Amino acid sequence: MEKLSNPSKTREIIEKYGFDFRKRFGQNFLVDARVLERIIEAAQITKEDLVIEIGPGIGTLTQYLAEAAAKVVSIEIDRNLIPILGETLAEYDNVTVINQDVLKADLNEIIREYGRFSGEGADAGREASSCSEEEGAREPSARGTEDSGRETPALRPVRIVANLPYYITTPILMGLFEKHIPAKSITVMVQKEVADRMQAQAGTKDYGSLSLAVQYYSRPHVEVEVPPRSFMPRPKVSSSVISLDIYETPPVKVENEELFHNIIRAAFSQRRKTLVNSLGNAAFLPVTKEQTAAALKALGLPETVRGEVLTLEQFAELANLLGRAH
Ligand code: SAM
Repeated sequence: MEKLSNPSKTREIIEKYGFDFRKRFGQNFLVDARVLERIIEAAQITKEDLVIEIGPGIGTLTQYLAEAAAKVVSIEIDRNLIPILGETLAEYDNVTVINQDVLKADLNEIIREYGRFSGEGADAGREASSCSEEEGAREPSARGTEDSGRETPALRPVRIVANLPYYITTPILMGLFEKHIPAKSITVMVQKEVADRMQAQAGTKDYGSLSLAVQYYSRPHVEVEVPPRSFMPRPKVSSSVISLDIYETPPVKVENEELFHNIIRAAFSQRRKTLVNSLGNAAFLPVTKEQTAAALKALGLPETVRGEVLTLEQFAELANLLGRAH
């Protein structure tokens, strides 16, 4: 089939199925071959890789992913798109579409199921997943290897690639991080301002809890800026493709991740307040103002300091000191 990156092909498919774009699902489909090629290049996909795609839409990026990767699993919430994907991806036998909300999907389980080097037929038996009709019709195959007592097979390198639905960019990324999805990299199209926040440094206006979470788990770098005309329909905002190279070990030592994240959350939920006040006032944090003041002193920081100037390393040290204060 002719590639969907050609706008007239996308239009033809949309009209053939009478598809209505749904704003609430953030549906802006890519129609720019050069941008699609840049995404594939940035993601550094190899023929060894399992790619998880979030929100395939009508399959525009998926076509490119299927050509570059060993296996692609695409998770799409909108069931109206499933029959369309059946047609647009018909010639790729290495793609599985799962009709599910990605925020509810168990990605670790999906990776175990589809990431096996030997597991080309691992589509078996995903009763709950409402795969495309073609996928659902497959016979059960190599399930239960672990149950039978054999060693867990090695898994393919995992890369997450997506033109994300912008309304849930942060929850999707935070979910990937917090569940420790074993991906080598995440390459995503996001709103330009969000990409700027991800790589912002301490003391700048864009710096916040997203910057700290992203930089704790990964090394972010913006690949390319993308104008509204590269999408159908055109969004009101500019976009950026950003790659996050996931660290095997975070760059700073954190003794209690939950406390670390909660301290950051509290620090930026009241951005203009001093850290002593914002942490002391947060009901979900078991720390007093006196403990925060003492920890800041130990770090050589003034008692009046605000969270927005602390580096990742200083937040890690603060969390470790406060964690030990109990
Ligand atoms: N990948 C396609 C492309 O580049 O043309 C479509 C990208 S579009 C910006 C976002 C896609 O994510 C849409 O297909 C939308 O239906 C889907 N989506 C929105 N919310 C989702 C969710 N919670 N889980 C899975 N997919 C979702």
